[in-house]
Amino acid sequence: MQRGHHQNVPGKRAPVFRLRLLAWYDAHARDLPWRKNRDPYPVWVSEIMLQQTRVAAVIQHYDDFLRRFPTVEKLARARQSSVLAVWSGLGYYRRARMLHAAAKMIVRELHGKFPQTSGDWRELPGIGRYTCAAIASIACDEPIAVVDGNVERVLSRVSSRRLSEQQVWHAAEDLLDRERPGDFNQAMMELGATVCTPKAPACLLCPVVELCATRGDLPGETKALPQKKREIHYALDHHSENGRPARVFLLQRPRDASLMPGMWELPEISSPGDHAKPLFKVKHSITVTDYTVSVWSSSPSNHTAGKWIAVRQLPKLAMTGLARKILRKAGVTKSAGVR
Ligand code: SF4
Repeated sequence: MQRGHHQNVPGKRAPVFRLRLLAWYDAHARDLPWRKNRDPYPVWVSEIMLQQTRVAAVIQHYDDFLRRFPTVEKLARARQSSVLAVWSGLGYYRRARMLHAAAKMIVRELHGKFPQTSGDWRELPGIGRYTCAAIASIACDEPIAVVDGNVERVLSRVSSRRLSEQQVWHAAEDLLDRERPGDFNQAMMELGATVCTPKAPACLLCPVVELCATRGDLPGETKALPQKKREIHYALDHHSENGRPARVFLLQRPRDASLMPGMWELPEISSPGDHAKPLFKVKHSITVTDYTVSVWSSSPSNHTAGKWIAVRQLPKLAMTGLARKILRKAGVTKSAGVR
């Protein structure tokens, strides 16, 4: 393993690196809702939401979630369907189930007291190496580094070396500011997300440019996987009363489906043919696939299963993000207030 102090990132200049990075973070940190305080509960919720999800999408859901479940006790007492309903649109619903299970453990087994160390956080469902370090450094001031894709990119570029996973964790640990570990970790991730970005790093704006051995793309850096493209078709049928949408026909995904089990969606159909015209199309991306979604007017007699659901029930229903998008676009639900 290549580890020795002469090879650390960025070696003797680590103290300068910390100072400059933290000064930049203090002045430029994005004003994100979960950065308002360091209570473990909101820090934990935000870290789980941020796993595999962009900051912009998390912002839309974070406040709703905390309004609905303001404490770990409220979350532990909630029904799973309510938790999934508020999570709807964030995707990766396993995270919501794990969060809910962990809340129950905290309340029942830890008597409502949050873990104090990264090791204890990691005992909870849904919390791995990255997340336990992120929460413990931010909420408990534990001097422990985090590594995500952003940190890995920054460290590789700063050192101008392709680092193995273990070397990245060591390098991050060596560089960590032990007085302000939570801020330092967030600053590294923020630098990667906003300045040292994958495609075009803004080196001219970078607070550590003088300490960086690459100042640009590292040659041969792996490029993001190309997005796959897929077309899918959904049937939309709804009834109105007094000129307002009253009921819509939806289908529940099987409870043992690997993707979004138990969530409600519109019935998927095969393409009605090249000559027919859909009501409208929407674009939707899930992980590495870009979907072109055609929505067709269709009556439930053609569907094998499903149920008429009252439109006023929809905000509380655990529905897929794509179904919500389609219903908004179709005017069945309103744009504001109903997700
Ligand atoms: S100088 Fe450029 S490549 Fe180096 S860390 Fe800063 S933004 Fe990234």
